[in-house]
Amino acid sequence: MVMTAGKVLVVEDEPDLREILIYNLKREGFTVYASGDGWESLLIAQREKPDVVLLDLMLPTMDGLEVCRKLRAQASYGVHVIIVSARKQEEDILRGLELGADDYVGKPFSLKEIVARIRTVLRRVPAGTTHRNPDEIISHPPLSLSTASHEVHLEKIPIQLTATEYRLLHLLMSQPGRIFNRQQMLAQVGEQRAHLTGRNIDVHVRALRRKFGHHAAMIDTARGVGYRFVPNPIESPSPAPAC
Ligand code: CA
Repeated sequence: MVMTAGKVLVVEDEPDLREILIYNLKREGFTVYASGDGWESLLIAQREKPDVVLLDLMLPTMDGLEVCRKLRAQASYGVHVIIVSARKQEEDILRGLELGADDYVGKPFSLKEIVARIRTVLRRVPAGTTHRNPDEIISHPPLSLSTASHEVHLEKIPIQLTATEYRLLHLLMSQPGRIFNRQQMLAQVGEQRAHLTGRNIDVHVRALRRKFGHHAAMIDTARGVGYRFVPNPIESPSPAPAC
């Protein structure tokens, strides 16, 4: 029996690039679906339930960011979304992460890098396994985090976090007041590869703070070092600066 490394949906409207991705991902053992169209990709995702979607941002019929938003809305099974785009502007990346993307890769990319990223997000929630932690609620009102259900509530209202955001928040909340440097945070999200920098962490933290709204100051910047969770910060009227 052929073992599959996971199901990947490639959403890319550039035919040559799409074919290269399909060919190489199949060679790596993945089951691969592909589409060059935003709408169609959503239908395929609904039908095939891929583990990972590699998502281009500039697409015909529907922008990749919109596809990302809709994927998140329709996928209750926890699909991982990796944005693959030539748009390197921070706003696009940030927007994608806010909309539920787990990671991003800038074009041009190396195939090795893409495969490594896919394997990394798949490791976060091993497909077909139920990862059982002891049931635990970490509560620092108005924020609470359940390690059993991975749900996070702010002021008793559930907030949607990406897998990466959840892991970072879990790390920070598990030891309030302790400063974690960016390397420790990268290790927590499984991104220990040498080419990644603390910049990735900064982007995820910024997305978390936006979701926290006027409670953004609960994630405090230790300038030049990293971040820490502050259970009772002095309330700020607007989101704190990201770094
Ligand atoms: Ca494109």
